[in-house]
Amino acid sequence: MLIFAPQDKCAGLKPSHTVVRGQPFYPFTFTQMMTETVQDSRSPSAARRSFKSVTCPFCSLLCDDMNIESRHGRLRVESVRCPRAVTGFERPSPPASARVDGVEVDLHEAITTAAKLLKSSRQPLFGGLATDVDGMRAALALADRTGGIVDHMLGDGIYRNVLAMQDRGWMMTTLSELRNRADLIVFAGTDVISDHPRFFERFVWNKESMFDLDTGGREIIYLGRGLDAGAGVSPQGRQPWHLKNDPQRLGEIISAARAALAGNPLQAKTVAGVRTREVNRLVSRLKAAKYPVIVWSPPRLDFPAADITIAGLCEFIKELNQFTRCSGLALGGNEAAATAGAVCTWQSGYQLRVNFGPGHPEFDPVRNATGRLLANGEVDALLWISSFDPAIRPPQSAIPTILLTPPPEEFDRVYSVYIPVGVPGVDHAGQMCRVDTVVSLPLRKLRDTTLPSAAMVMQMLLKLL
Ligand code: SF4
Repeated sequence: MLIFAPQDKCAGLKPSHTVVRGQPFYPFTFTQMMTETVQDSRSPSAARRSFKSVTCPFCSLLCDDMNIESRHGRLRVESVRCPRAVTGFERPSPPASARVDGVEVDLHEAITTAAKLLKSSRQPLFGGLATDVDGMRAALALADRTGGIVDHMLGDGIYRNVLAMQDRGWMMTTLSELRNRADLIVFAGTDVISDHPRFFERFVWNKESMFDLDTGGREIIYLGRGLDAGAGVSPQGRQPWHLKNDPQRLGEIISAARAALAGNPLQAKTVAGVRTREVNRLVSRLKAAKYPVIVWSPPRLDFPAADITIAGLCEFIKELNQFTRCSGLALGGNEAAATAGAVCTWQSGYQLRVNFGPGHPEFDPVRNATGRLLANGEVDALLWISSFDPAIRPPQSAIPTILLTPPPEEFDRVYSVYIPVGVPGVDHAGQMCRVDTVVSLPLRKLRDTTLPSAAMVMQMLLKLL
């Protein structure tokens, strides 16, 4: 039986920051990694244990105020009411075996088979990429070694933002600035709480703030029909203002607002289902605010040419700065998209959708998109990583697929190779980048497991290639 070193052991070792040409990350050998056991006197498996100020990895806000109770290895969220966190931390980790073509095998055979698949592939795709910093470094090293392509499972949303930013630039803020300075917040096409349940608790209706800001007096505006505006009601009961435009026509509202801001009166009576005088009122409110912030979430702007809508938002923000201090805040970044983008940027110079096939990183946000590559048969092997949610599976395709997830309740199909991995911040220590990418936070190991991290699996693969 193969036993893995708990990741806390690895956390004390300094990984190499070099990825290009795939150097190993930890100074121990493949054999050691496969056989070493570690006695940890502070074992999380103690019958009952409390963990304070834990970082939550289950959305890109990375709340670091979680109290987690462990009883005989079962985790319980104690301090906060966040459905995503409860689902993530309290998901049991049933016993699991590696599989090859649906048949249970030992880990060595699974790793060897996966390595053969990658070795024989002319153009592999490293997709999903829901992993921590070490996992993303290892994925990049594998892609570099095999001439593969890297793309995140939320790559389409990520590129709505990246294209807008590349074209014209943008003026953005951080979660801390929003929390401490914003007096008016516009939510453009997103209610936020569906993806980030504690956003309002931590950054909008926060009880304490710097600069004596009365957070309860903040003005909240939603743009888009169908958004859940309940979280925008202030603690004193003040209702948000909700403009119920057609969500797919947000760009028209922004264009009309830009025209009004520039002093060009609009002839139309309505724009995208909203009366023109309401658009004028929106502009007046923004101009009168001391620090308005416009928030959007690229994955939620899922309609054709949404990058042009985002570009319009970014231009509107810049133009508002002639009258007041205004900034944007792009959310999204879940499933470690913020981490994957940051690591890929600092190691390859590009934010994902990078092809290492030519012998150097080649960036192309259109050609290197997962959906297009699979639909056109331009890749012949897929390694898919989803280490936070085992239910997120790769798109259907006929190519050999290697799956790295925590143990799932059931499989949706037979995978060429399945290797169970631990959850970063639950089964092993690690590090992740917050959605505003200005900080990275440490993740802790909360329970004992024999599951390797995705990083360890990929480092073992690297040694066989
Ligand atoms: S809001 Fe996000 S980071 Fe915060 S506790 Fe909930 S899932 Fe975790």
